[in-house]
Amino acid sequence: MEAFRRHLRDRGLPVTQQREVVAAAVFFAERHVSVGDIEQGLLRQGEHVGKATVYRTLELLQSADLIQEHDFGEGFKRYEPLAARGYHEHLICLRCGRVEEFASERFERMSTLIADEHGFRHHHHRWEIYGVCPECQRRDPTARRPPTPQREEHER
Ligand SMILES: [Zn+2]
Ligand SMILES: [Zn+2]
Repeated sequence: MEAFRRHLRDRGLPVTQQREVVAAAVFFAERHVSVGDIEQGLLRQGEHVGKATVYRTLELLQSADLIQEHDFGEGFKRYEPLAARGYHEHLICLRCGRVEEFASERFERMSTLIADEHGFRHHHHRWEIYGVCPECQRRDPTARRPPTPQREEHER
C-alpha cells in the first residue's frame, strides 16, 4: 500500500480513500478478482466507489507494477497482486471459471530454454492451462473426456 501511495504522489495524484479501498480490495483478495468482485466486496463494506474510479485505480496499480491483469477469455479481466506471491501459473476451468495456481520449476526452466532456442533473452512468461476442474468432472462425468473434435471423429 505504501508503494501505491508513493506512486500516486510521484505522479502528483491525490491519495484518496477511494483509491486506497480499491487497492486494498485487490491486495487482500484471496483469489483473482474481477471488477464485479471488487464492486461487490466494496458494497459489502459499505463503500460506495464508482465504476470509473475502480477502473482508473486498477490502471494506476498496473502502471505501478503492483498488480497483474489476466484475461482468461471470460469476457472480463481479473486482477491479482504481484508482490509477495511469487511467480505462478494458472489452471482455468472452462465450465465454472475457477482459477487455480501452480508453480513449477520445470516450467520456469523450459521457458528459458525455449526463449534461448529462438534467440530471445527471457524476461517473463505466462502459462495458462484450460480444462475442466475436478468438481465439474464429478458433476458431469462426460467432461472427463477431452473435448477435441478430432478425437471424437476417431471414436466413431
Ligand atoms: Zn469447474
Ligand atoms: Zn494467480
